[in-house]
Amino acid sequence: MLKFNTEWTYAPAPESTDHIRIDPEYQLFIGGQFVPPKSKIYFDTLNPATGKKISSVAEAGKKDVDLAVKAARKAYESYWKKMPGKERAKYIYRIARLLQERAREFAVIESMDGGKPIRESRDIDIPLAAAHFFYYAGWADKLDYAFPNQKPKALGVAGQITPWNFPLLMAAWKIAPALACGNTVVLKPAETTPLTALKLAELIRDADLPPGVVNIITGAGATGAALVEHPDVDKIAFTGSTQVGKIIQHAIAGTDKKLTLELGGKAANIIFEDATIDQAVEGIINGIYFNQGHVCCAGSRLFVQESVSKTVIRKLKDRMETLIVGDPLDKNTDIGAINSKEQLQTIRKYIKIAKREGAELYQSSCSLPRGGGYWCRPTLFTNVSQSNRVVQEEIFGPVLTIQTFRTVEEVIKKANNTPYGLSAGVWTDKGAKIFNLTKQLRAGVIWANTFNKFDPTSPFGGYKESGFGREGGLHGLSAYLK
Ligand code: NAP
Ligand code: MG
Repeated sequence: MLKFNTEWTYAPAPESTDHIRIDPEYQLFIGGQFVPPKSKIYFDTLNPATGKKISSVAEAGKKDVDLAVKAARKAYESYWKKMPGKERAKYIYRIARLLQERAREFAVIESMDGGKPIRESRDIDIPLAAAHFFYYAGWADKLDYAFPNQKPKALGVAGQITPWNFPLLMAAWKIAPALACGNTVVLKPAETTPLTALKLAELIRDADLPPGVVNIITGAGATGAALVEHPDVDKIAFTGSTQVGKIIQHAIAGTDKKLTLELGGKAANIIFEDATIDQAVEGIINGIYFNQGHVCCAGSRLFVQESVSKTVIRKLKDRMETLIVGDPLDKNTDIGAINSKEQLQTIRKYIKIAKREGAELYQSSCSLPRGGGYWCRPTLFTNVSQSNRVVQEEIFGPVLTIQTFRTVEEVIKKANNTPYGLSAGVWTDKGAKIFNLTKQLRAGVIWANTFNKFDPTSPFGGYKESGFGREGGLHGLSAYLK
């Protein structure tokens, strides 16, 4: 067996923080201005790598939500819906360019507020967010070509609610197509990661976007609920848990609000014996340990063909040993901090449940940072069965379950045996097998011989309890048009 030398470590390589500005207190961004909340309430946002407070953030109450929706309505009626697409595009391009210029600052703040490794916020979250603004800016004056003979029209005011795992990227997925189609926006970011959305509000102000076209209001679940229930919102776009998605669906039933829901997942990652094993092992690692497993489409259920299962598991454990759990701002870090104390408790609860259900635990032996913060070693479970809770329920942490299979029919049945249907992965040398599986797996996105790849031109979204509607690509536009 390959032995790793544990005698040496990488020298620390932290990203500097002296180029960023975080204010001690943030207000609500309504009508193009930062305004104190009528609620007079503020909450703390913490750095999950230290457990310490970074800043105070305004909590929008019902009155504040109403002011934000009014500002969005006024902007929509008085100028945004009348503005030619090519003029709207200029603003969206400007946001994209400013985001690129300030990418380093956004990356550092994303990692500080949410705990994800700087390598990911720097190389994935921020560039992809800018790419979405560029991509949708390009469509703003071409909607008639995108939907010929349909006379596409904006919906009006869009209420948008985002989760904490990709804070800026989810905001970009939602704001960019909404603006390109001529809608105005009220966005509520997640409570634990509001800072990059507030930085985006500053950037939008600097881009001279007309006041009220984008409003950003911070707060917890109640703020989101008030936005959903507001009678003057034409569309709700929600990304988050299936549980909250269901509440929202009930809340808007019987109204004429349009709805898209991007919810949870429990993706199958399927390795066949003819796959390039080393490449597949990298794909498994990327699929589940990337971003601490805080990924809706994480490859959390691994299915390995029996003939190669011993080899795959051995190689996987060896590779897990090399992963570094540590300071999110360090460029060597592979796995950062768990987003919150609550999320760490959830992950620990599932690890306990799995052990009680008879699963066999393996965790890498790496050291965890000391002195505060929320951390979890990369974890895997073997000896699990379809009915185990760790196999059925979304954990949203760096926890993988491994099952084996013999035939294609068997693995399709097992992979589809889940309430979710967001994504899946297939690793094989045979193109025919890929086509066969992609037809039969019930998942919105299926990667072949790769995992967790995103692009603004590709639609993304789920089946079953993973929600409905698509974001990205042309599909993402149609969700904001009538
Ligand atoms: P969450 O608890 O459902 O929260 C999502 C957002 O909804 C947050 O901004 C939250 O505010 C807000 N919210 C909470 N209760 C609400 C209510 N009653 N009405 C309206 N809004 C409400 O999800 P999360 O824990 O932040 O995110 C993790 C989940 O998101 C996972 O299930 C993951 O799979 C899913 N996700 C899906 C996708 C996708 O594209 N399908 C992408 C990313 C994540 P607070 O922050 O204050 O709770
Ligand atoms: Mg935070």
